[in-house]
Amino acid sequence: MDVIQQTIAVIAVNAAGRETASRIAALLPGARLHGRTGRIDDCDVPFAETTAHVRQLFGDGVPVVAVCAAGILIRAVAPLLLDKRAEPPVIAVSPDGASVVPLLGGHHGANRLARHIAAGLKGHAAITTAGDVALGLALDDPPRGWHVANPALAKPVASALLAGEPVRLAVDAARGQSAWISAPGLGTEGAFGIHVTDRAVESTRDLILHPPVLALGVGCSRGATADELKALVADSLADAGYAQGSVALVASLDLKADEDAVHALAAGLGVPARFFTPAELEAETPRLANPSEVVFAETGCHGVAEAAALAAAGPGAELVLTKRKSAMATCAVARSAAALHPQRIGRPRGRLFVVGIGPGGPASRTFEAASAIARSSDLVGYKLYLDLIADISAGKTCHAGAMKAEETRVRQALDLAAEGRSVSLVCSGDAGIYAMATLVFELIDREDLPGWNRIEVSVIPGISALQGAAARAGAIINHDFCAISLSDLLTPWPHIERRIQAAAEGDFVVAFYNPVSKRRREQLPSARRILLGHRPASTPVVLARNVGRDGERITVTTLDALDPADVDMLTVVLVGNSETRTVTRAGKVWAYTPRGYASKWE
Ligand code: SAH
Repeated sequence: MDVIQQTIAVIAVNAAGRETASRIAALLPGARLHGRTGRIDDCDVPFAETTAHVRQLFGDGVPVVAVCAAGILIRAVAPLLLDKRAEPPVIAVSPDGASVVPLLGGHHGANRLARHIAAGLKGHAAITTAGDVALGLALDDPPRGWHVANPALAKPVASALLAGEPVRLAVDAARGQSAWISAPGLGTEGAFGIHVTDRAVESTRDLILHPPVLALGVGCSRGATADELKALVADSLADAGYAQGSVALVASLDLKADEDAVHALAAGLGVPARFFTPAELEAETPRLANPSEVVFAETGCHGVAEAAALAAAGPGAELVLTKRKSAMATCAVARSAAALHPQRIGRPRGRLFVVGIGPGGPASRTFEAASAIARSSDLVGYKLYLDLIADISAGKTCHAGAMKAEETRVRQALDLAAEGRSVSLVCSGDAGIYAMATLVFELIDREDLPGWNRIEVSVIPGISALQGAAARAGAIINHDFCAISLSDLLTPWPHIERRIQAAAEGDFVVAFYNPVSKRRREQLPSARRILLGHRPASTPVVLARNVGRDGERITVTTLDALDPADVDMLTVVLVGNSETRTVTRAGKVWAYTPRGYASKWE
């Protein structure tokens, strides 16, 4: 019945929902039954963990109908909702089949799907989107990958359908996936119409819908400008009469994965960029219109633009625009009879997220960090940190390393991303504060490897231990402060000592990271002595151990009473400046550093 029918995942998580799930699958020819291993036998796709499985499907754009509590689905997909485009239908069905609830993708087929299922199960579809109740069709919000060329016509066309007037429907592309456009009144007559086409057409009476059936293959010399490539593509499509709105993806050779122009082109078209190896493109040689020995000598395949377009559009596709060239770029277009799903074509540019997860568990992590982790296939990090994100890491490949093997871990993360994978390099607190972000750039800089240079790197900020610790104990920072690591593994002690001296003279609030280790016990007493030379013995000190984690312990003491025996490597030590005070209320001691408001009050 629908664009997505072939791939709908009907999920049963336990025996109670098994029968309803089978009945739903029977209502949706082509859908596959997914069952939780150990609880459901005899299904098409077994899976081990529900949350991870649903998240994976959702991330891949697969419609999900799950016989389980809505909350399970909401929690599973929540970290992915940052990307509004990634919204296939998600439907929760109660085990008795009485309630069918479209949770997401209401305008991308979920409402229709829910109604269809509810009718089959003799249950109720709980539709919550406005307007949809009457028409069951959101013309201005078509499925993922489709574009509306003239959205202003959505209203008159929908009004005509709602008024019971006839509306014309013409489908010239993606015939097999246009059944979502169904409403009483659609036919061959009417003042208004709907036209599904990949051609660049204009109309004041027809709503033009462009389905994603064109694969745009591109190539370019190193450093070609985005403007040149965009102009070449725009001119070529216009000359051939094809609509930009029907371009499903930009495809190229993996060597081009870090070419700005290719990504700018894809971003401009609002489609993904996907890449193929030379061997994959070479396999297209028999279908090329312009095979080239020169290109083969340079790249290992006889064509880039044409081959990438064909490889992306698939075996049944035809090359509708042969290679066109500008000074530094090439493009070609292949057309598929069916809508294309870019997520399943070639590989994306590898991604490395350098993620700070905050000091503790789920509550101290940002939404952006959770989202990066959710969209990663691989997680690399120290075991303790991977344990802290266990709630969102099921189903991902975890590469846990030893604490000291930082360089090995960073190299591994870069290697995985260079293969086209999405990798999160997981750090506690903030990734740029005594953590691995620097090493990423140091290695990229020093090694200058083509594979690493192609990776798209993003650094995701996190709440650092000093912020978590200060907040728990009041507001000890809130004025000029500095952070000093007392570890002399990477920095010689005399340098550290000089910085402590400067911080003491400057009257900075100081956060000491790595204050002690099993073998290092002397640095903290030395730091204490230096600071005591410049601020009162009564200066408040916060000892914060395992902030945000199990066994969190916050103690407020004084510089004079600071005892290294109370401090370990899971503690951050915050020392106030000469103005810092404490106040006790309801038995709790708070430390705070005035910012000078008092002088204004006088
Ligand atoms: N990138 C981290 C720091 C890592 S260095 C951040 O931004 O917080 C390791 C040191 O950080 C530890 O020795 C300890 O001093 C401090 N630390 C990290 N997490 C902590 C936590 N949850 N509670 C207290 N201190 C912590």
